[in-house]
Amino acid sequence: MSRRAGRQLAVVLLAVALVAGGCSKDEYVAPPPPTTSEVADPATAADTLASLQAAIHDGDPAAAAELGADAAGRDLLTAVVANAAALGLSDVTLRYVTETGRTGGADGWDGEVAVTWRIEGHDAAAARTELPVSFASHGATIAGIGGDGARLPLWLSGPLRVERADDVLVAVAGDPARAPDYLAAARRAVAQARAVVPGRSGLVVEVPADPDGLQRTLDTSPGQYAAIAAVTASVDGSQAAGSPVHVFLNRTVYDDLDRVAAQVVMTHEAVHALTDAIAARQAPLWLVEGFADYVALRDVDLPLTRTAGQIATEVRQDGVPKTLPQDGDFDPSASHLGGVYEAAWLVCVTIAEHAGERALVDLYEQVRAGGEPADALREHAGWTEAELTAAWQQRLRALPGVAG
Ligand SMILES: [Zn+2]
Repeated sequence: MSRRAGRQLAVVLLAVALVAGGCSKDEYVAPPPPTTSEVADPATAADTLASLQAAIHDGDPAAAAELGADAAGRDLLTAVVANAAALGLSDVTLRYVTETGRTGGADGWDGEVAVTWRIEGHDAAAARTELPVSFASHGATIAGIGGDGARLPLWLSGPLRVERADDVLVAVAGDPARAPDYLAAARRAVAQARAVVPGRSGLVVEVPADPDGLQRTLDTSPGQYAAIAAVTASVDGSQAAGSPVHVFLNRTVYDDLDRVAAQVVMTHEAVHALTDAIAARQAPLWLVEGFADYVALRDVDLPLTRTAGQIATEVRQDGVPKTLPQDGDFDPSASHLGGVYEAAWLVCVTIAEHAGERALVDLYEQVRAGGEPADALREHAGWTEAELTAAWQQRLRALPGVAG
């Protein structure tokens, strides 16, 4: 109520100011650009959002289209309804929160909107985020969704191609031509991961249209994932238990990979997603990343010159690293990132060669569940970290191309 009263008061004051400005006959006094408080109608916007929420719930694209401010807005809202149906979304809510202060045109403004959604059968809990929605006609219609510096869920960004089989779902924005390839790789990834670590098999892969789309979907800084083919991440950025975790492809990198390398990437990410690696914050990254590559490379017939070529070059030039890879070495923008991943993979290979694959899996599972890495290493491999490091360094020195 107070906001509406304030709005009317502001309009009155503006009228007085214009009249006062008109006293000087020689100069035209341009009206100041409208402020949010003059054009925003939160009650109308809330009604519009409720209508959109109902259209999504009912799977009624025509009802959603009526809420679009123009052709682009109608297309977007129609796509949103189609996406929600194709993804099998439940728990979709859209709630008006406040004005952002940004206006557009004479009667448009941006409102901050709280959104929840959940992919039925995949996500244990709803994802939730807040994003700007551009309202027009004082709030009666929607001109756009999303804005700078805000996470934009893929299903709210535009038309998606959704492919699914068994417990695997792939959502592709932009060119849908490769959607069946992504689905095939994702299914194979789940099978490979589950052959080593049993458990639930559901996997969701989201494929934004381009790097900008990936940046908006994950709300990252520009270029953060420019060199990364794929990332496993919380859908809404939340660290809370049960928050949906999906795999996101950077298609400008992923699409250039050959078939084998693309499968290695997909399986690596599937291991992260299926073993809740994101929640295992106390687990050292050499174990999290090395184990994912261990599973991904397990059934791949590639020579060490390919799977460990970068770390071999680094060892030949600088000698073996003094410690196991440190968490900071895995920063997506770090240099020699490829060599760090290869080094982590070889730590896990060293453990499996020493104590067996079962021991490596048990060690991983124990640490993932909150166990101390040193305890798990001693229990399952009979090693201290110093002993593991020494064995790993020996493994590195024996790589092809290192000696001589
Ligand atoms: Zn990884």
